[in-house]
Amino acid sequence: MSVPKLFLFDFDGVIVDGMHEYWHSSLLACEKYLNSPKITVDQKLYKKVPNIFKEIRPWVKYGWEMVLIVHEIIKTENPLNNFNKYEFINKYHQNCQKILKENAWIYDDLQQILDKSREFQINEDFEAWVNLHNPFIEVINFINELKKRGIKTVIITTKGKIFAEKILKKFNIYPDFIFGYESGTKIKIAEKLTKNYEILGFIEDRKKTLIDINQNSITSNIPCFLADWGYLKYSDRNDLNIEIKLLKLDNLEDLLAI
Ligand SMILES: [Mg+2]
Repeated sequence: MSVPKLFLFDFDGVIVDGMHEYWHSSLLACEKYLNSPKITVDQKLYKKVPNIFKEIRPWVKYGWEMVLIVHEIIKTENPLNNFNKYEFINKYHQNCQKILKENAWIYDDLQQILDKSREFQINEDFEAWVNLHNPFIEVINFINELKKRGIKTVIITTKGKIFAEKILKKFNIYPDFIFGYESGTKIKIAEKLTKNYEILGFIEDRKKTLIDINQNSITSNIPCFLADWGYLKYSDRNDLNIEIKLLKLDNLEDLLAI
């Protein structure tokens, strides 16, 4: 029997653009659950995603970091803005750790309040919450095409599985498997999948994740595609090698030839 074929997808920035939702849910998490004395949440803040948040989003790996970033942007004293953003971005991970420490926060708690904020909105008004996400139609069509060809689709995301599932259902997408942050790192999930499947490709918008997949001996033969339409840093398009290809929305169909 031949080995079943499978295609891997990241979720945020690859299948859907959730920028409005990231801002909205993280802001609500700050307002309702964070109890920070450094902020007051003006309702007008919900209306528009600030550019500074959009600019920093490509650095985010886990959801909890967005709660921290929103807090930095909206805090009364010395907020994160256009003038100090490079200082923040240049040492992104160190800065996140420093801010956790300064506020005596635990990252897991921030993740939990983000999840709580999403659950709250889902219970209050599911349609309003789900409508904060915009799907990339070309990707949805591509997933459907793979299905027709008997190729399994798997989504690995750093979001909670339940949230990705609800959004996908709205767009009539039923992947064979969805793995959220609860299932461990993307690389470990990919390692396990290579045991039973031939992985035809992995589309992701976080370059570092693709580099890790490529440099890991167990997963190095997975073809890696960097989603040009996702949340990319300016420098991500530079220095791509033969192993990690920049993929444009218009070229998705070409992958069906493999
Ligand atoms: Mg992504």
